[in-house]
Amino acid sequence: MPMISAVGVEKTYGEGVAQIAALASMDIVVTAGEFLMVTGPSGSGKSTLLAILSGLLQPSRGHVEVMGRNLSASTEKDLDHLRLHQFGFIFQGFHLLPFLTSLEQVAMLPERQGLSKAAARTRALEALEGVGLGHRLHSLPEALSGGEKQRVAIARALAKRPQIIFADEPTSALDSVNGGLVADQLRAAALRQGATVVCVTHDARLMTRATRLVQMEDGRLRAAATPDA
Ligand code: ADP
Repeated sequence: MPMISAVGVEKTYGEGVAQIAALASMDIVVTAGEFLMVTGPSGSGKSTLLAILSGLLQPSRGHVEVMGRNLSASTEKDLDHLRLHQFGFIFQGFHLLPFLTSLEQVAMLPERQGLSKAAARTRALEALEGVGLGHRLHSLPEALSGGEKQRVAIARALAKRPQIIFADEPTSALDSVNGGLVADQLRAAALRQGATVVCVTHDARLMTRATRLVQMEDGRLRAAATPDA
């Protein structure tokens, strides 16, 4: 079953002579359980594609269906609901709240999903232990290393038990050891939960974790290959 299906998706920014074609008519299907990696040089349209597939940005043309739902025909309220309950997001730069401990950061979203405080805390605990941070539950972000912060961000996305995880350069701020670790953990956790992952990166370390690679260039999909190829 396709989790995401994008047909004829185009995106232009600006108008007139200042207009930039960020995506030129693109079709892509992401199936359940895939770990799809989107690579390509800076400016090739990767982040724009991710934002459109996750309903954060409307395409200029074409349409996107996620789990059978047409995003263009959805209201902001529907999209908020979809993002809260079905999607997990991992952005570059962690986006952690400085005044919350790891456990509090990760428990926040399951609580917003409607779980009781105790159930959300259990979810958060499991997610943090799952990424090897059982010993960092009560630390504030300032006391964590870059790799640990990124693992908190991954745990936060996973604790929601999302169907789809959207990750934008999840290892860009990390050294090679931590980048590899974080990538392994994202891959293992996604497999464990049966989550589909769409990950944008130019980090070669992540490629071996993907089940499928697509490459972008000038707003187009250039080639598709398996990681082994
Ligand atoms: P990537 O993620 O591969 O670096 P982006 O999707 O960020 O690529 O950008 C694709 C193109 O669209 C680039 O030329 C970029 O400058 C342009 N772009 C991205 N976001 C905006 C925006 N909000 N306004 C205008 N141009 C943008």
